[in-house]
Amino acid sequence: MKYDFDVIVAGGGPAGSTAATLLAQYGHGVLLLEKGRHPRFHIGESMLPYSEPVIRRLGLDWSEGGVFKAGAVFIDEKTRQEMFFPLSGEKLRAYQVERAEFDTRLFENAAAHGVDTRMDSPVTEVEYGRGGVNVVTEGRHYQARYLVDATGRSAMMGRRSRNLRRIETLGRFALYSHFGPLRGDLADELYATGNIWILMVDIGWLWVIPLPGRRASIGLVVRQRKPGGVDAETLFRRYLSASPRLVELLEGARQLWPVRREANFSYLNRKRYGQRYISIGDAAGFLDPVFSSGVFLALTGAARAADRIHQGLVEGCEADPALHRRDEAAHAIGFNTMYAFVERFYQSDLIHNVFFEAHRDAAIKRAISELLAGNLWSGDNPWQGTLLRGRFALETK
Ligand SMILES: Cc1cc2nc3c(=O)[nH]c(=O)nc-3n(C[C@H](O)[C@H](O)[C@H](O)COP(=O)(O)OP(=O)(O)OC[C@H]3O[C@@H](n4cnc5c(N)ncnc54)[C@H](O)[C@@H]3O)c2cc1C
Repeated sequence: MKYDFDVIVAGGGPAGSTAATLLAQYGHGVLLLEKGRHPRFHIGESMLPYSEPVIRRLGLDWSEGGVFKAGAVFIDEKTRQEMFFPLSGEKLRAYQVERAEFDTRLFENAAAHGVDTRMDSPVTEVEYGRGGVNVVTEGRHYQARYLVDATGRSAMMGRRSRNLRRIETLGRFALYSHFGPLRGDLADELYATGNIWILMVDIGWLWVIPLPGRRASIGLVVRQRKPGGVDAETLFRRYLSASPRLVELLEGARQLWPVRREANFSYLNRKRYGQRYISIGDAAGFLDPVFSSGVFLALTGAARAADRIHQGLVEGCEADPALHRRDEAAHAIGFNTMYAFVERFYQSDLIHNVFFEAHRDAAIKRAISELLAGNLWSGDNPWQGTLLRGRFALETK
């Protein structure tokens, strides 16, 4: 059978561009199809340090254009409790990035590694023949040995196979915007440390992420359905003006665009892979944004998938529907740890009983910092074991 490409990647976000670049580095012919056009806005600006090894494999320096992120500060203004968890270390560092720019760099980097990158190219159909996969975009058909579904929350393959399962117990919707320019002492402190702030409020929590150019991304994540009789902009503004810290931070700054909204963002794709395809990044599932794990799981999952696809292509066993089974455990550790962690955040007094009390026990504080940084596969974090034993793996339910 004649193939146009070894691999076709649908979706040019962080997951898709990463998988495409790594496969091209291995010497495979890759087509990367993005339905939109870079640069384009995307939410998800706070990164984790344990993404850095993947960024290095891509040949990129991610300090370029980002705001250094020392750690995360959890704050409850009502009780005056506050706790800082360091995240960046000597070897691995994290940044807060403008996604339009970050995603464009990753996409262009794929092209620089020899990937055939195309924008304005939505994948509209996927058909399986005996010897390969046939992908349709803009009326054109391409044959490949393998398909990577990196279509983000569109979750192309999971939706087709009806395997998406909503997770109802986490945040329900998020409202957010960008603000700037930020001036004053509090803003100076925010940029000097580059910390992400997580402020606890009665209906959920707020994020404050410092961005380049003295701007900040601020979002409100709400645990329930939207309260009736109040529009999104008013609800958002109400919570910003109820926080003395945010009032001070935003003094003299402008809201740069009207509030945007994302709802029902937490879900699991129960069939992540099958014959000649795998879903990665958000297409494999997405958890609540509270611990900023989205891009980290997208990058690490993309790297794992690319390595396995390479092996399959080299050994000629890429048509094996169980090709990715050997990576199930690694995927489950990453996803389930974050899931258990986020679930505890919402369903218990984790914040008040553990996070804000972490100064009492240096070992616990270190263990939490390691998880928040994305150190999930070392196997030596006692707190991770406790979290995972606290619930069954999602996939097995
Ligand atoms: C409110 C909110 C806040 C968040 N905050 C953070 C954060 O602070 N830190 C963090 O790490 N993560 C955060 N995330 C999550 C993060 O944005 C995602 O996890 C991340 O973007 C996943 O990358 P991806 O490549 O899988 O998907 P995406 O970045 O969504 O990329 C998917 C791409 O596929 C394209 N596409 C879709 N369908 C098709 C098709 N049929 N054909 C071709 N292309 C297609 C899309 O246009 C898109 O460019 C947040 C998410 C939400 C909802």
